[in-house]
Amino acid sequence: RDKVQPHIPATLIPGDGIGPEVVEATVKVLGALGAPFAWDIQQAGMAGVAQSGDPLPPETLASIRKHGLALKGPLTTPVGGGFRSSNVRLREEFQLYANVRPALTILPGRFEDIDIVLVRENLGGFYVAHEYYIPIGDDPRAVAVSTGTNTREGSKRIARFAFDYAVRNGRKNITVVHKANILKALTGIFLEAAREVAAEYEGRVTMNDMIVDACAMQLVLNPQKFDMLLCTNLFGDILSDQIAGLVGGLGMAPGANIGSECAIFEAVHGSAPDIAGKGVANPVSLMLAACMMLDHVDLPDLAQRLRDAISATLNIDQVRTGDLKGSATTEQFTDAIVRRIIASR
Ligand code: ATP
Ligand code: MG
Repeated sequence: RDKVQPHIPATLIPGDGIGPEVVEATVKVLGALGAPFAWDIQQAGMAGVAQSGDPLPPETLASIRKHGLALKGPLTTPVGGGFRSSNVRLREEFQLYANVRPALTILPGRFEDIDIVLVRENLGGFYVAHEYYIPIGDDPRAVAVSTGTNTREGSKRIARFAFDYAVRNGRKNITVVHKANILKALTGIFLEAAREVAAEYEGRVTMNDMIVDACAMQLVLNPQKFDMLLCTNLFGDILSDQIAGLVGGLGMAPGANIGSECAIFEAVHGSAPDIAGKGVANPVSLMLAACMMLDHVDLPDLAQRLRDAISATLNIDQVRTGDLKGSATTEQFTDAIVRRIIASR
């Protein structure tokens, strides 16, 4: 094997809960693969609070800004102390307007042959969450109000991202998910923008639209007929967990947050405090996020070798973690993947 010097600097954030365990596992398989990342390890989440009183320390943000590329474990937002969600802060800080969440059947279970890519608008919608209460009489919180925001420009930008993604990845159809019958302004503008952008891609990518409730049902009845989903922020949050469920759960679901200058790759799952520190977490989500990162830096062959090694380990060697009804520890599973990678050289 040729020894090449790592030459793609990238920020590596271990994160909270099972984060350090799945990050270690992922770095190990990337090493076996000879992926050319030079890791700049930075803290965030609870480790960031311990280091500098901030779940997103300035050094961590500077590192991401410098490299424009990061792989991160899940971050816990401390309760109390007025901290905003670190994930939402990261998206806003680096204007990571696109969240890409693929759901691909690797280990057939309840469903087979699922291959859906969900694109979620990452900066607007109800996640803007301008919330307040209106007092009535002696009840200071008699009425709760929440507002969301979608801009025409933001909606067009995410639609363009989705259609470009479709063209680059040979995808044929995009289903735009909305609730324009009820949230006529907030999700209507999103649908309208998607239709305008779709017209520019006529003959290359088709588009249909679906109301979110109908889409949720169709995703269970006929998941194989979906190709790509384009969602507003909140609907994308919900449906991406649903499609993760179609392919084996949160342990199998990667995500990418992409902006014009930065990209941050992560697992869809959170810190899973119930199994943290036990060495039993499924690292596949973050490993698949690393595959997306390899695709992003134009190393699709390495990405495919890692996906193949994961598939062979799960299906042929039948080495699986507890969430997939197996008995392997994170380390045993990771070592099995490393053996597959070495065998594929
Ligand atoms: P957070 O508050 O950080 O979002 P959470 O309690 O919501 O954490 P998640 O990580 O979102 O937990 O996942 C919910 C549950 O799914 C976990 O408690 C865990 O049991 C399971 N789970 C999630 N990720 C994994 C994984 N990689 N391997 C095994 N089980 C997992
Ligand atoms: Mg969670």
